[in-house]
Amino acid sequence: MATVTLSTSTPVRTAQTPFANEKFVDFTAAENKRAMQAALAEVEINLGHEYDLVIGGRHLRTTDKIVSVNPARPAEVIGIHQKADAGHAEEAMQAAQAAFQTWSRTPVAERAALLFRAADLIRERKFEFCAWLTYEVGKNWAEADADVGETIDFLEFYGREALRLDKAATPIQFPGERNQLRYLPLGVGAVIPPWNFPFAIMAGMTSAAIVCGNTVILKPSVDAPTIAARFMSLLEEAGVPDGVVNLCVGEGPGFGSAIVAHPQTRFIAFTGSKAVGLEIHESAAKTRPGQIFIKRTILEMGGKDSIIVDGDCDLDAAIEGVTVSAFGFNGQKCSACSRVIVDESIYDIFCDRLQARVAKIATGDPVKNFYTGPVISERSYRKVLGYIEIGKGEGTVLNGGHAIETPEGGYYIAPTVIADVAPTARIALEEIFGPVLAVIKSKDFDDALAIANNTEYGLTGAIYSTSREKLDRAREEFHVGNLYLNRKCTGAMVGAHPFGGFNMSGTDSKAGGPDYLLLFTQAKSIAEKLGHASAAAEKQSELMGL
Ligand code: NAD
Repeated sequence: MATVTLSTSTPVRTAQTPFANEKFVDFTAAENKRAMQAALAEVEINLGHEYDLVIGGRHLRTTDKIVSVNPARPAEVIGIHQKADAGHAEEAMQAAQAAFQTWSRTPVAERAALLFRAADLIRERKFEFCAWLTYEVGKNWAEADADVGETIDFLEFYGREALRLDKAATPIQFPGERNQLRYLPLGVGAVIPPWNFPFAIMAGMTSAAIVCGNTVILKPSVDAPTIAARFMSLLEEAGVPDGVVNLCVGEGPGFGSAIVAHPQTRFIAFTGSKAVGLEIHESAAKTRPGQIFIKRTILEMGGKDSIIVDGDCDLDAAIEGVTVSAFGFNGQKCSACSRVIVDESIYDIFCDRLQARVAKIATGDPVKNFYTGPVISERSYRKVLGYIEIGKGEGTVLNGGHAIETPEGGYYIAPTVIADVAPTARIALEEIFGPVLAVIKSKDFDDALAIANNTEYGLTGAIYSTSREKLDRAREEFHVGNLYLNRKCTGAMVGAHPFGGFNMSGTDSKAGGPDYLLLFTQAKSIAEKLGHASAAAEKQSELMGL
């Protein structure tokens, strides 16, 4: 097994080392622009390479492949990946079980040091990772940088959180006893991330799991496996022991469901759609022969997120906040605003101004840093265009409403705003996950809150208002896991905005928050009666100089 070694340049962090969010790159600065262009050119030379499965430290090739392509130019291959099948699920499980025996007993400081080292390496190669995100999933530079920055934040934050958890104590010491509380790892977990934050969510769930002493079978999305493969290789460079993270690129319904169903899978950390989350929940609840525990599921799922625009708001701020929340990364964020609920007193002016603002959005090749690029895949392209057709029958198209053709056949869709949508219309209730915004008119604030709460989801929400009373009512009555007052509903920051939703948006795990690591552990309470035996043991320890 490889050992975790820290380079001399790695600053030592403790639980007390202050955490600060990674600063965003200013791409208007000439040196940063140049650095990003250089990274894009460098990555372009490296497109189309073949990547291995990594199981127990062994690099494997398979006959069947998964090919990742650039959504802006589908003929351009980003990476060729091995396709794991059910047989690999068993192999990966045995490798992860074997590694668990030692990794679970590795000191927390050493496990945290692995995360800190990985954070340092990513920081050094920030532009390179940004470039991979731009090519593989179509992020513009700032969106790519936010994804890379969040990855570093998760590594830095969970490293510190693990050190803090290691110092946990019982709230009281019972008289005559020594009481201890220890947070132990669970075992082998399946980590199943989505493609839309292919670095931050993938690395965040993986690092949270391993820093607690668990070992992992990582099954990335087939739409973004190259980012995961490059992270795996960075972890190897940082010294991850064999079998602690096993990279298995595979299809969801094949490999994914096999690993969820495996009787030795102790937990599943999943982020993705409601449909797949519920399927995993159901499968994990079934006890299989040989299974000796109840599987734990950490499920973060879809959203249908609203922004309420009150009659007395700062209209400029609301127009800007709604636009970036709805169309940043093409609305392909679980937190994206897909419905804006506007007070009737300002409805017409809001629609006019929103239409003018959205018309200014430039769409084009993410490599050239257009504000919006293509949607992720042909499947997504067809789904979103299907919803736009439904929307045309449910409201009035203010912007877009069509695909944008390019010679390279990229999956471009014009930013689309559909007004006069009823609160119960399909485009007002179903997650579209693309650049489509429904505008809904509300009669008053009570009506606005009722509309905001009328979906099965409960992930993010925002309100623009200058009324203290209405902001305070929203705190109480707007039922979402992440509520924002007078700001956009996207862009959660690790530590400041622990992230996770209510109802069909998931299990409210609050990634990037103080409770997150508890989900990857089980607490052991130990009470020792103070008496002769303890006193004798202590005496002996003292004599042995311990
Ligand atoms: P998805 O549900 O299609 O896929 C997510 C992952 O599950 C992928 O790795 C996929 O291969 C895997 N998978 C698919 N079927 C499976 C099965 N039967 N068993 C096991 N694994 C299976 O989602 P997506 O398209 O990758 O991502 C978009 C979705 O993710 C949206 O619904 C979005 O709202 C949601 N999302 C939620 C959050 C959050 O924090 N709540 C964050 C990001 C994305």
